[in-house]
Formats: sequence, structure tokens, C-alpha cells
Amino acid sequence: MSAQVVGRFAPSPSGRMHMGNAFSCLLSWLSVRSAGGRIVLRHEDLDPQRCSREKANQLEEDLLWLGLDWDEGGSQGGDAYYQSNRFDLYAYYLSRLDEMGLLYPCFCSRGELHATNAPHASDGTLLYAGTCRHLSPAQRLEKAALRRPALRIAVPDTTISFTDGLQGRYTENLCHQCGDFILRRSDGVYAYQLAVVVDDALMGVNQVVRGRDLLSSTPRQLWLQDLLGFDHPAYYHVPLLCTQNGRRLSKRDEDLDLGAIRAAGHSPEQVLGRLGFWAGLLEQEEAVSLEELHSLFSWERVQKEDIMVR
Ligand code: GLU
Repeated sequence: MSAQVVGRFAPSPSGRMHMGNAFSCLLSWLSVRSAGGRIVLRHEDLDPQRCSREKANQLEEDLLWLGLDWDEGGSQGGDAYYQSNRFDLYAYYLSRLDEMGLLYPCFCSRGELHATNAPHASDGTLLYAGTCRHLSPAQRLEKAALRRPALRIAVPDTTISFTDGLQGRYTENLCHQCGDFILRRSDGVYAYQLAVVVDDALMGVNQVVRGRDLLSSTPRQLWLQDLLGFDHPAYYHVPLLCTQNGRRLSKRDEDLDLGAIRAAGHSPEQVLGRLGFWAGLLEQEEAVSLEELHSLFSWERVQKEDIMVR
């Protein structure tokens, strides 16, 4: 008998949910519910400057307005479902990686990073040049007196492949396409890459449905899972909602956030109809109930390419 599917909503409460976030959550909900599984809600509020409990509460309210419920976590689940309260756990797993001799302090400033790093081959993000990887103990001490370092993990020259449930085979060389990445910022905030791996594992998540922008993070996460002895979840990376010029929807597009949409008087069924149409589950945009979308859902029908919505 195969294990019960455990999926998750992992929103960052840094602003009002927009249609892109709702789109990922809807597909996660449909996928898990179609498999008779459970959903965990975890607030990814690592960044204290941008995230707040008020925004997390609003997010929950918007999810429930759409009918997207969950079985565990969120505010009902208490502090353990907010990443800002899980730093001790991240510290523990970081120390395990440190014992493996994989971490090193990085003293590079933002300016230095921009000056020395090469653009990432596939998506234009910067590939760390490895400047601090080979500093001597004496150089580290000298630099540590001047600034608090971030912690990076040294990646091997390894190629990681996996099969995404929607996007198919994806392959990346950690050394040439990703580079040594940060696990803890210089201000002590743990990096998303570490937190998400620890949390998915400890919360028993075995199915991850999220935006395609995170496809290129997955090889890193698979590698960290192996190092820490965690199982790999199944992944489904869903298309992003984009503007005409290919820019993905962001929290700046306020007319497509749930606040504006609800204020304009749209019903949950109208919003679900629009999301379901974009996903490829409906022939045309029409108001539908969540139950109708549930009965229409299968991954074979879901659109793979990014969707231009404005
Ligand atoms: N917290 C991330 C976001 O809101 C999602 C991370 C994930 O699904 O792994 O974009």
C-alpha cells in the first residue's frame, strides 16, 4: 500500500496573496485532495522585515474564502508552523552539515558579489565565484573582526536529475549551474533552501506543488535531502502567471491580488473559474465551484507553459 499523500501550502506572508499564489495553492489542493491526502499549512516567514502575523492571518482568510482548506498547521497549529519559530531546528541541521566539513564563512558584500560572480547559465542569477571558499584560517579571523559572515555550502561537481510530475526531466550540475549557496545569511536568518528541506521532511511532506520559478532550486534541495538522510518528495512545478513582457506576476501587481479582486466584488467561484481556465481545466472562463474543479482535475490536463494573464 502506498503512503498517504501529504502536500502543503507554503506561502510567504510578505503581502496579500496574488493570483499566482492562489494558482499554486489551488493546484496543490486539487492534487492532494484527488489523491485523498492531507495538507499542511506552513508560513514561510523567515524574513522578519517583510513578513508578519497579520499578513499570515490574511493569507489564511483568503485561502478559506476560496475554499482551500488544510488539515494541519497554520495559526491553529501554533508557533511550530511559522518558520520564524523554527530557527533551533535549522541550527541543528546546519550543524550536521558543518560536521561534514561542507560549510564555510563568506564575507563578500553585495557589491563584491555583483562584481565577481558570473551570471547563472539558465536564469541569469549569479553564480558564486567561490571567493571565500579557500581563505586560510588567518584570513577568516581577520575578516571576521570586520564583518559577520554568511554561511555557504560548498557544492561538488555533481549532476542531479529528477523527474518533475508536470515539467518532466530536469537536470542541473550543482557546480556549474548553481554554485556554492548560502544557508545562513550574515544577519543570522536561515536561507529558504535549508528551511524548506528541513520543514518538508519533518512535517512528513511527500508531495510538493509550487511555482516553476523554484524548479532550479530543486536539485539543491534534493542534494541537501540526501546529505541529511531525508526522503525526496514528488515535485510538480506549475506554470507562472506572467505579464505581456514575460515578467512574472508579483506582489506589485496589486490589481491581481486577492484584496483588490475581493473589493471589486468578484465571488470565489469567479476567481476559481479564472484560475481553472488558466490551468487548462476549463474550456472557457466561467464561474465554477471547487467541487467542479475537483471532478475535472488531472495532472495530464494541466498546462505546463507559463500563462500570460495581462
Ligand atoms: N514560500 C515560497 C513562496 O511563497 C514557496 C516555497 C516552496 O513552495 O518551496 O514562493
